[in-house]
Amino acid sequence: MRSSRNVTALFGQGYRNFLDLLYPRRCPLCHRILRNSHQLICLDCAGDLRPVSGPRCYKCGKPVNGDEEYCRDCGAHPGAFDQGRGIFLYDDRMRYSIMKYKYFGCQEYSRFYGKALYIYGKDMLALWKPQIIIPVPLHRRKQRIRGFNQAELLAKELSRYAGIPVDTAILKKCHATRSQKKLDAAERKKNLQKAFQVVGNPAGMRILLIDDVYTTGSTMDVLAKLLLEKGASHVYFLTLCIGNNR
Ligand SMILES: [Zn+2]
Ligand SMILES: [Zn+2]
Repeated sequence: MRSSRNVTALFGQGYRNFLDLLYPRRCPLCHRILRNSHQLICLDCAGDLRPVSGPRCYKCGKPVNGDEEYCRDCGAHPGAFDQGRGIFLYDDRMRYSIMKYKYFGCQEYSRFYGKALYIYGKDMLALWKPQIIIPVPLHRRKQRIRGFNQAELLAKELSRYAGIPVDTAILKKCHATRSQKKLDAAERKKNLQKAFQVVGNPAGMRILLIDDVYTTGSTMDVLAKLLLEKGASHVYFLTLCIGNNR
């Protein structure tokens, strides 16, 4: 992973500038080369940022129609977590951005994502007062193949701004899960319950889970349930993107 802070600390700004020449930074939203390597996104995209606004599900934060308190999913099966929010709608632009981030070597996009989580999530953080941040874990094998855990990078970036420590020792993904797309909600949940394990001690903790995308909410539900069973006092989540089933 190319970490700007580490590189600058080790080799100085000259080497950083040299790397920027070789691998120019790109805007995470339109993927054009950034003229100024200190920018996290280009000016056009900065002027066109659309975090989720308007009426939201009280529980998971999905957009809802004005008179609804809960989204369809939370109305039918409220998740075990206390509350959560996603920053951007999971639309085509964000889907493409996250694909580049996860699969095409654009880990540097985590700098923008992490800052967005903080800027647009800080009101909720002030309300929730989490003591630790836990990224949704990846299975060891998957992390080795991908080279990094996308949620962990987001958690670390958020942690820098929010001053809340990241803990990757409490939760583990001990079994790989097959693609969940073709499974119904009950099968999905059963699969996930077997996949994750609490291996540390979350007793009495107010926990913030972090992931890149929230869609059906089954992962957050299962993780919150496991953590609460082991004594966590509250479980919240923030994700970069959230689906829309309005
Ligand atoms: Zn852009
Ligand atoms: Zn909801």
